[in-house]
Amino acid sequence: MNAAKHPDTRNAAPAVSFEYFPPKTPEGAEKLRTVRRQLQALAPEFCSVTYGAGGSTQQGTFETVREILQEGVAAASHFSCIGATRQSVREQLALLSAMGVQRLVALRGDLPSGYGMGGEFQYASDLVSFIRSETGDAFHIEVAAYPEVHPQARSPEADLRAYVTKVQAGASSAITQYFYNADAYFRFVDDAARQGAQVPVVPGIMPIGSSSQLLRFSDACGAEVPRWIRLRLQSYGDDVASIKAFGLDVVTHLCEQLLAGGAPALHFYTMNQSAATLELCRRLERASPLSA
Ligand code: FAD
Repeated sequence: MNAAKHPDTRNAAPAVSFEYFPPKTPEGAEKLRTVRRQLQALAPEFCSVTYGAGGSTQQGTFETVREILQEGVAAASHFSCIGATRQSVREQLALLSAMGVQRLVALRGDLPSGYGMGGEFQYASDLVSFIRSETGDAFHIEVAAYPEVHPQARSPEADLRAYVTKVQAGASSAITQYFYNADAYFRFVDDAARQGAQVPVVPGIMPIGSSSQLLRFSDACGAEVPRWIRLRLQSYGDDVASIKAFGLDVVTHLCEQLLAGGAPALHFYTMNQSAATLELCRRLERASPLSA
């Protein structure tokens, strides 16, 4: 067999994608360009850019997406529908399409407290249906998945039904909220498949860099930091080197479990930093038998 024509991809370095947020300052934009240059060496499948609910970051999101495309990398624009009208979504889809975007992460989004819901879309599934009805198969549509249950869900069953509805509305694949318990992911994938939602579910991976930031973030988005991880992080106090070393070990092991169990790829929440994601990917590549 010609190995060049038929590469053996079993256990090869995992497929990865990276998530960025739109920088707020020229310095942030310059720093993000450096981060992207470093991470693009890992040949990501695509890079995505978050979108402030209510359209607050639209310009920054689209500008960052445009730069990624110009760098020759596939870009996914996050797109949230809370507070949006059909006409505003239609206009933004036309803009993204004209830019050459082929991939969207379709979300409901969250408005800061004090803002009413407003708008013509209630749930992400409404947005997915609308995008499909307006643009057919023009976009690969990702949706959010919550192995540990979305914090506002009425029940785990209702949340799973909501996810299945998004897939039935036309989602192509899903990216999960981050988690540190691989069993929650495998259970979610099995339960969704049993209900007929069989699109790829890519685990979202949050590197651990700072104890206080991670705990604050996790409380807000409903991701569970297991007690043993929480206690270890707290015990390191201000010892950043120990927090990072421990975080790399924990997250590498999580990624290995996920890949061994059949996760189709890994999506890294980079927080516009490269060091932890680079090191995690290096470790995963080293762990893959074909790279030995
Ligand atoms: P939905 O799927 O609409 O779900 C929202 C809630 O409504 C859930 O509790 C669900 O159970 C419930 N629900 C859904 N449908 C129904 C129904 N028919 N009946 C009853 N209940 C229902 N936020 C941003 O603002 N910008 C971003 O760029 C961004 N990127 C993200 C990327 C990923 C991969 C993930 C996992 C999250 C991201 N978020 C982002 C956060 C996300 O916007 C919030 O978690 C938001 O609260 C829910 O969005 P959703 O698309 O999952 O909503």
